[in-house]
Amino acid sequence: MALDRFARQRVLPELGEGGQRRLGEATALVVGCGALGTHGAELLLRAGVGRLLLVDRDLVEETNLHRVALFTPDDLGKPKALAAAEALRRIAPDTEVVPRVAHLGPELARELVADSDVVLDGLDNLETRYVVNDACVERGIPWVYTAVLGTGGMTMAILPGKGPCLRCLFPDPPPPGAIPTCAEAGILGPVPAALAAVAAAQAIAVLAGSADLVPGRLLLLDLWRGRVEGTDVVRAPGCPACGRRRFEFLSPGPSAAVLCGGGVQVLPRTRGTVDLADLQGRLAPLGPARLAQGVLVAQIEGVELTVFPDGRAVVKGVSDPARAQALYDRYVAR
Ligand SMILES: [Zn+2]
Repeated sequence: MALDRFARQRVLPELGEGGQRRLGEATALVVGCGALGTHGAELLLRAGVGRLLLVDRDLVEETNLHRVALFTPDDLGKPKALAAAEALRRIAPDTEVVPRVAHLGPELARELVADSDVVLDGLDNLETRYVVNDACVERGIPWVYTAVLGTGGMTMAILPGKGPCLRCLFPDPPPPGAIPTCAEAGILGPVPAALAAVAAAQAIAVLAGSADLVPGRLLLLDLWRGRVEGTDVVRAPGCPACGRRRFEFLSPGPSAAVLCGGGVQVLPRTRGTVDLADLQGRLAPLGPARLAQGVLVAQIEGVELTVFPDGRAVVKGVSDPARAQALYDRYVAR
């Protein structure tokens, strides 16, 4: 066997020739391309995962740069999924990397999970984690839950049918505003890198078909205080998702939602691609409308409307979802 880029990994008894081959045949879905997602995606790519699917709805911001992998100041303002894919292709040009700039709603979650062998959590909100959990449990696809905040975080590989799911651990998402965000509580730069590394190792073990994986092993790390703890989570007998198979988070939700960073996100009612140049032409007579980095930013009626190619929009300058929906219907949906 030639000493290719995976030689030092293939020699591991835990992985071996067979494990490395299975990695190369596998598809991993990384949901969210922030700090956790970029570190995780890079690790899976370098480990030899054959195909990577990326999904993220946001743009690269300067406040992300202290903790992410892959992004540089040149990427500011670009959709995170596209910027991550560009960087990953430079690292491993032979690996198929498929980015999606989109909100991960139930329909898209089902579609992407069905096309994946493992899912890596790089999300910044709990609501979408419950969508991912439902989609993965429904389909029987393993996923690695990871959350970070402040100086630490936690991670657990969820193996449907073999161990607990996210709803066995936390039956319901907390109400909006109950958990501080990274914007409020802060985040230490190395924390997502460390947690993403633990999660990526679990994902690699899943894809390699390792018998050593322990279902329900929740790891908690505090990097500042040097604490690592592990605890065993058991399946909840009445779990709505993995017990009763009621996938409540896969039913369509409200289309307008207040974002934690300010503004309101409005989702399109139908899937498809918006012609942003055409929309720019329609909105330009009403106020400044600028097309850059694949998104349209328009100032209109005292608000800022950012429209993405998938028809999603973020309305800044309003806090009322109904008002945001009305503006969207007036100017974007028609
Ligand atoms: Zn469960």
